[in-house]
Amino acid sequence: MFQVSANQGVTCVKMGKAVLGRTIRATCSFIVDGLAVEGGSPYFKTKLHAFYLENKPDQAVFTHCHEDHAGNVDLFNLLGIVPYAHQEAVNYLSSPPVIPYYRRFVWGTPAAGRSQIVREVIKTEKYVFQVIASPGHSADHLCLYEKKEGWPFTGDLYVGEKIFYLYQNEDLPKMKETLKKLAKLNFSTLFCSHRGRLQKGPEALTRKLLHIETLEEKAKALQLKGFSLSDITRQLLGKKDYMRIISKGEFSKTALIAALLNPGQEGSLIIQPPKK
Ligand SMILES: [Zn+2]
Repeated sequence: MFQVSANQGVTCVKMGKAVLGRTIRATCSFIVDGLAVEGGSPYFKTKLHAFYLENKPDQAVFTHCHEDHAGNVDLFNLLGIVPYAHQEAVNYLSSPPVIPYYRRFVWGTPAAGRSQIVREVIKTEKYVFQVIASPGHSADHLCLYEKKEGWPFTGDLYVGEKIFYLYQNEDLPKMKETLKKLAKLNFSTLFCSHRGRLQKGPEALTRKLLHIETLEEKAKALQLKGFSLSDITRQLLGKKDYMRIISKGEFSKTALIAALLNPGQEGSLIIQPPKK
């Protein structure tokens, strides 16, 4: 999938690799008044290059360093743009580590490149985007907010109302705080880097928060009854945790339940991949 749509001044390029006829983990690059918000996935680098040559942005910003958002930093450099990002992302993008195979398969291999530390606002000819620190999904995560238009660009904060998996370095307490903070802004449409344009944005963020809190309550109740981490995971999120095997423990249902039971301890949880 490589679809371009434009609505009320915001162009969205939505792209996703097809596997067995199904698009997996589509991701978006938005262009608004010459500002590219997100740079798409490296798997689509050639197509994006042709698109950006025809619709040339003058500036770019990445909400965080993950490859499906910032893996084409080299492409922007080729276009004469040094994208904005959080300081931690700037360091990461200058020399990204080798990412696990399942991520390379879905989004491609990220390139190294130059980016620069974003300031409090990004101005375009028509708009002013406030840069809002929004840690949770990652420590370097940023959202952008154009107050006059009521446009929040929320990176990977939303993605979906229900979560079934967690990356081991995601921080759930911070994610909850960020969801609360963003839901209070004055807007209706939000721009999600995986879903694209989404109506009733504040309600969507609040529902996601509620989903996490409900799951947390259920997990804790089961823990009090003496169930183990794997039992609780199975009861609340279903039988097999295939992603835990595929990602070698990086992304899993088990990590989500572990984080709900031990808030704030995500980074220190050691979750062994299951024995073969
Ligand atoms: Zn991400």
